[in-house]
Amino acid sequence: MIAELICVGTELLMGQILNTNAHFIAKELAPSGIDMYHQVVVGDNPTRLSEAVQTALRRADVVLLSGGLGPTDDDLTKETVAEAMGKELVLFEDEWKKLISWFTSKGRTIAPNNKKQAMFPIDAIILPNPNGTAPGCIMEADGKAAILMPGPPRELQPMFLNHVMPYLLKRSGHRLYSREVRIFGMGESDVTYRLDDLIKHQTNPTIAPYAKTSEVTLRITARCQSDEEGEALVTPMIEAIRETLGDVVYDTDGHELSEVCHRALIASGKTLAVAESCTGGRLADAFINWPGSSAYLIEGDVTYSNDAKMRRLGVRKETLDTVGAVSEECAKEMAEGLRKAAGTDYALSTTGYAGPDGGEPGKPVGTVFIAFASEDKTVVKRLNLFGDRDRIRHSAMLNALDLLRRNICTK
Ligand code: ATP
Repeated sequence: MIAELICVGTELLMGQILNTNAHFIAKELAPSGIDMYHQVVVGDNPTRLSEAVQTALRRADVVLLSGGLGPTDDDLTKETVAEAMGKELVLFEDEWKKLISWFTSKGRTIAPNNKKQAMFPIDAIILPNPNGTAPGCIMEADGKAAILMPGPPRELQPMFLNHVMPYLLKRSGHRLYSREVRIFGMGESDVTYRLDDLIKHQTNPTIAPYAKTSEVTLRITARCQSDEEGEALVTPMIEAIRETLGDVVYDTDGHELSEVCHRALIASGKTLAVAESCTGGRLADAFINWPGSSAYLIEGDVTYSNDAKMRRLGVRKETLDTVGAVSEECAKEMAEGLRKAAGTDYALSTTGYAGPDGGEPGKPVGTVFIAFASEDKTVVKRLNLFGDRDRIRHSAMLNALDLLRRNICTK
């Protein structure tokens, strides 16, 4: 099956916005076995849009369109596609009522020109849009289909994943099966460099990297006839990735880093306490987010001042006077001190410069020390983080989780 994408919007042609919808759709479509030979960008001009639609309907089985579904006069996608497919638009009363209640729930009054957002060809398939006013739709004629989606990515993306992709897969007779490999402690470029061979030779399954703050996720997707076949195709690839990347892979079953730690602590029956300075409660929060964390999390102390570090955790004055609060020694004494005071099996600590001001010679902003203490050992790690205050604090929290994971999860 051949698909073609038309992104509508003069803003795209003028370079005022980046065409992230094309990137998103192409990336999602790639593993499906549906071919895309052309992507077109066209302005809000009915003649040129009509030409683009007619050309696409000639050379593709399915035409995907993004943008131009709004209420204003220059939003013409639906009208133009309907005309090209020989269809008339009629008011869908149900959609009109939904639009009215959407506006009412937001305390806004609906304008008469919003009515056109509730007009579709009589035989159209409506695609719900819970994140905006313009529903999408599918128009079918002469064995071809046109799929219209709103422009804003936060509206288009869920619509594409929840409604368009299932429609395309059904129509093409393909089925997809995906699993994710989650990685902490290695950047996206390093990951893709090491997996270069696997990525270069990928056909089925495919590997798609997604990066978010301090983490990389690889989505492994197989084209298959059944989940069993999908699993059989995906598993050897996951094993090959694990073998290549080693212990930076922390999960292959859809769990976040904090959940991996949470589950390991529950399974082991061990207890934990956390002493936080620069992370200011985020570490405790990462555990408390999971129901059932009371089984192991005994306490979390935000010891931000030197005084609190001494009084609550037993950090030595001499340590603070000589090497300071942002030091390997202080992180170690924080974790060991709290473990003893709380009577837990494990303790974690964080101390560092989150910026934007501060730091000291040899320890610039972004220098963070984290420690893990257990009965038989204490492990301290120095981190050199970058970014703004929020990013440094978030990254410090994730690194502390990873330190715990590496010390308590059985390999
Ligand atoms: P609305 O109902 O909000 O008017 P619409 O379907 O009419 O939506 P447009 O008016 O074409 O969509 O675009 C609305 C906004 O969506 C744009 O200002 C832009 O921020 C974003 N957008 C549109 N097309 C794209 C695209 N291809 N990639 C990324 N963002 C886009």
